[in-house]
Order: sequence, then C-alpha cells, then structure tokens
Amino acid sequence: MNSTVKIAIDGPSGSGKSTLAKALSKELGYVYVDTGAIYRTVGLYAKRNNIDPHDEETLASHFDDIHISLKWQDGSQKIFLGEDDVSEDIRTPEASMYASAVSALPKVRSFLLSMQRQIAERENVIMDGRDIGTVILPDAQVKIFMHADGAIRAQRRYKELLEKGKKVTYEEVYNDMCLRDKNDSSRAVAPCVPAKDAVIFDNGSLTFEETVKQAIKIIEEKLS
Ligand code: C5P
Repeated sequence: MNSTVKIAIDGPSGSGKSTLAKALSKELGYVYVDTGAIYRTVGLYAKRNNIDPHDEETLASHFDDIHISLKWQDGSQKIFLGEDDVSEDIRTPEASMYASAVSALPKVRSFLLSMQRQIAERENVIMDGRDIGTVILPDAQVKIFMHADGAIRAQRRYKELLEKGKKVTYEEVYNDMCLRDKNDSSRAVAPCVPAKDAVIFDNGSLTFEETVKQAIKIIEEKLS
C-alpha cells in the first residue's frame, strides 16, 4: 500500500541527482534523502577502523557498532556516525572510493536496505541513489534516471569540489568518476541501472532552472 509519496532519482555520480533532488524537496516540501551519504558513512567507518573496504566478513562483523542517523536542518541532510557529524568528512575523494568499494558488498546493501525503506514509509520522500527505483523503493510512484555525458559530469563535480575548497585536479575527478561508474554499473548486486518504469532524463544541455522545471513536469504527470 502506498501511503506516502516516493520519488526515486537514480543515476551515476555527477549526473546532477542531488542538486535536483534538493531543489525538488524545497519545491514540493518532501524530505530529501541522499543515500550516497549513507554508503559514504559506512566507507568512512571502514577507513577510520583500518578495515579493508573489500573485506565483507570483517566489515559485517562490525555492523552492530555502525550507528548511522540522519537529521534535517534547514532542508539539508546531516549525517551522523554515532554522535559524530560526518557530513563533511564523507565528501573527500578517498571517502568516495571507500564508499564505492563497500557499496559493492551484498551484506552492506542488505544492512542499509531497511533503514532507507523505513524513512520512505514515514515521510513523503525524494530519495537519490543508484538502486532506489530498482531495489529500495520498487513501488515509488515516480522514478527518474539521470543521464549526462561523463566529461560534463566530471566538470560539474570538479567545480563543486573547488567551491568547497578541496584541492583536486580535473583529471583526478574524471578518473575517479570513471572508476566509480565502472564499479557501480558492473557490480553483481544492485548495479546502477534504470528501473524498467523509470523516465530517462538527460539534462546535459539544460540549465538548472530548466532541469527543475522539466522534472516537476515529469512528477506532475506521474502523480496525476
Ligand atoms: O551518490 P554518491 O556519489 O555520494 O555515492 C557514493 C557511492 O555510494 C557511489 O559511488 C556508489 O558506489 C554508492 N551508492 C550506492 N547506492 C546508492 C547510493 C550510493 O551504491 N543508492
């Protein structure tokens, strides 16, 4: 039974999912859930505890110790590992690679599945990730799969990191992105692929305003 509205926005890194999802959550008054942040937090836990992010058994033996919680302040999501606000620490390129590695582990995915579903049962959500439309919320009323050229996505992510004062080169961002794309789309569990009933949305040539407008049109059509 669908008692809440669920909007799934999936796509590869840098496709503009989170910027769009944040704008839509403001516009529609829904809770925005950035699921990438959750995988990043598990990755950060592995890094901080010197756990090989490919070592599924060791990481799984720590699940009882990984307490992740989300809080929303002024419309933006904060994420906590235990008591520690890790919203910034999870954004480094190294944390991205850890996130990509741990997210390929089936035990990590099932560990995080109910947490994501529970949020969507309580609130109207716009949830962004890689497998929201296929695995986490297969009953979502709206599924959008974002697509944009790799070079455009890398350029966006590069600009975003520079604006945050991170010291990275475009090449590093581009290479990381290609590697993560490959990991994310080729992994055996929950690969980053569009759901059968997703709307493929290529926003490579659209401005931000046009992207939001177009997405609202898609949502209105689906919900009507
Ligand atoms: O979206 P973001 O780039 O922050 O996600 C970090 C990593 O977490 C991705 O590269 C991907 O490997 C993983 N992820 C995932 N499933 C999701 C969200 C993120 O596997 N739903």
